[in-house]
Amino acid sequence: MGGIGMFIIVALLVSWVFNSIRNGLSNMLPSNSNSNSNKIRAKCPYCGELSLIDSEDSWKCACGKVFVYRNSTIYKMEDTCSDIAIHVTALLAKIAKADGFVTKEEVSVLEEIYNRFELNNNQQNEAGRIFSNEKSNISDYKKHIHKVKELAKEREILKVVVECMFMITMTDKNFNNEQEKMILEAVSAFGLSECEYKEIKDIYVEDLDEYYKILCCSNKSTDDEVKKAYRQLMMQYHPDKYVSKDLPQDILDSITEKYRKIQESYDIVNLKDKTKINDMKKSYQKEDSVEQNSNSENNKEEVAADKVNNK
Ligand SMILES: [Zn+2]
Repeated sequence: MGGIGMFIIVALLVSWVFNSIRNGLSNMLPSNSNSNSNKIRAKCPYCGELSLIDSEDSWKCACGKVFVYRNSTIYKMEDTCSDIAIHVTALLAKIAKADGFVTKEEVSVLEEIYNRFELNNNQQNEAGRIFSNEKSNISDYKKHIHKVKELAKEREILKVVVECMFMITMTDKNFNNEQEKMILEAVSAFGLSECEYKEIKDIYVEDLDEYYKILCCSNKSTDDEVKKAYRQLMMQYHPDKYVSKDLPQDILDSITEKYRKIQESYDIVNLKDKTKINDMKKSYQKEDSVEQNSNSENNKEEVAADKVNNK
């Protein structure tokens, strides 16, 4: 996804969040139907006036401002997360937790995501609390998927949500089956196509099949199995074993190339991180072009030498 595409998505998202807050304000008057028994005395965070409220909801104070009572806390309206941000945060918490525990890196990716959604500091604090609460229970994952689907009317927003799921999943460079299953569940509930899913996945997850094949392994192989296969292949194709065998040059070249490919594949399979893999591929390509350049230099010299000899 290009910079402009991302900008459009963020702009859409921001305008949508603002609209939903504005629309929300018009139908948020306190209901006075219930008896006083369960009422809570809530202090308006704007003017300090006490109001009697009876549930976790948004309330309009006599001063005209709207405040929110949620998780036993009173917030100024602008310091609370939008409904969709709450459910997206819940989804991310459950995905982050699915591989066993939430890491420091995942928390910092979360901050990146919140900044992208333009949550202010206080909203981020609330989101942080939601995240810690939600990660303890994965079983209501589906409920939050459907809430997000219901609240996000724009397809592009749903795609951003899936992208955020990948961001949090890939922080530990490990895309495990359980997490993929969870993301696929969301993709299908959101009504996104396989093509849309692949497009997003491609940004974050490197397809390593080709490299595993070179190592005679698959993505199901354990790290130890891959290492063992790699070592065997490196021994089998080590060019030093062949130089003394009086083989034709093109066979020697293909053995050297195979040896190099094995090394490259092993390095890439071990990295797992897409950005680092792209950097490494670039460095391998650089080596290639340096070699080719020096080859063509050699050729030039040979041609020059031939010319001299022919004279
Ligand atoms: Zn007030």
